Amino acid sequence: MSEQSKFDIVIVGGGSAGIATAASLLKRQYWLNIAIIEPKDEHFYQPGWTMVGAGVFSSEETIRPEADVMPEDVTWIKDAVATFDPDNNAVTLERGDKVEYNYLVVAPGIKLNFDAVEGLEEAIGKNGVTSNYVREGAPYTWQLVQRFRGGKAIFTQPPLPFKCAGAPQKAMYLSCNEWEKKGVLDNTDVEFCNAGPALFGVAEYIPPLMEFVERYDAKLSFGKNLIKVDGENQIATFAVTDADGKVTNVEEKFDMLHVCPPQCAPDFIANSPLAAETGFLAVDINSLQSTKYDNVFGVGDVVATLNAKTAAAARKQAVVVAENLLAQKDGTALNSVYEGYGSCPLTVTKDRIILAEFGYGGKIMPTFPKWINNTLKATKFAWVLKADILPWVYWNCMLKGREWFAGSTKKDSGHH
Ligand code: FAD
Repeated sequence: MSEQSKFDIVIVGGGSAGIATAASLLKRQYWLNIAIIEPKDEHFYQPGWTMVGAGVFSSEETIRPEADVMPEDVTWIKDAVATFDPDNNAVTLERGDKVEYNYLVVAPGIKLNFDAVEGLEEAIGKNGVTSNYVREGAPYTWQLVQRFRGGKAIFTQPPLPFKCAGAPQKAMYLSCNEWEKKGVLDNTDVEFCNAGPALFGVAEYIPPLMEFVERYDAKLSFGKNLIKVDGENQIATFAVTDADGKVTNVEEKFDMLHVCPPQCAPDFIANSPLAAETGFLAVDINSLQSTKYDNVFGVGDVVATLNAKTAAAARKQAVVVAENLLAQKDGTALNSVYEGYGSCPLTVTKDRIILAEFGYGGKIMPTFPKWINNTLKATKFAWVLKADILPWVYWNCMLKGREWFAGSTKKDSGHH
């Protein structure tokens, strides 16, 4: 590590949100002395994993060396943060060193909580059990889809919160579309086992999605939560809650099982003085400033806000955090507002997407006017955006401080 152990700004996590925030800060004040603490050698473009699971992208296209995405002028501290000491403006690293800051940005993402489903972690990657949520899982999903000759295919969705609210059903639609083309779908019994009560959190999107559920003849089960996976015997166990709230355990045989693992706040956040009751980072939902310490901000999947946890949300949040952190530093009002924007490109076929875009309270917030793209319809435009344009925007704009489609909303001047 560098000899230096005190920085203007320390960013915890070099994922989508952490790197975008660093780039947006440096775009405004290139002289800032910033450190990013990130233990991994590789940076993942996770939104691409749905496409890897459908054979559209290769796994390699979604992964770059972390060194390549680090902005030139930051110090990369290659370690994980273990604890926070916000009263002394310091964090402690896993290897024991202390790093001090004037301002802290917390961006370590969300944790895949494998402990919540017995046998799941060991099961993924063999015996027909897969998950686009893990790096090795996405290419295995595509192998399974290609080899599948019919039988029972189960796709699961855990209770909220989890990242990319649409990804569990995207995997189902894309697999079904492939089986439809190959004539396998007729011999296949598809079930979507959803721990929650509805197909999608924003009601307007349910009718257009149901068209595809019906087209693929998928059975929708609600209140059905995966609790155990026995990969060798291909049996999944669910806790099923009925209308009266009674819970029964049910076992189901499968030939293919795609799992979205349950998710929760990272332990070192939940156990820290920065956490909200849910374990996620307590922030003001509009300014993204910590509600506990004025010199701390949160960005990305880790914040305790009710937006859809997506890279698209992080793209907007990074700009708000950069602007508000610098305002805090200058002693001026925090005027930049995050309105809860998140986006979920629902891949319903291999050439059309329903581009769900919405903010707090389920308010629909389309980027494009209706004559370019109707957010409530499956369009080819949205497919081209996801398949050809957004990955480029991610690597070349979002991670580089070029804030396309990411301008922040401002409070009226004089308004605190
Ligand atoms: P991440 O990108 O996960 O980065 C967190 C970083 O923090 C990691 O690099 C990690 O190593 C690091 N870290 C963790 N712990 C520590 C520690 N203790 N100390 C230091 N660093 C630490 N989003 C969309 O916008 N559109 C989509 O279509 C979409 N589809 C998705 C499909 C799938 C299958 C998945 C898995 C995700 C999808 N997402 C999508 C969501 C998107 O990937 C995330 O919302 C986004 O990556 C969040 O960024 P983040 O920086 O908060 O977290």
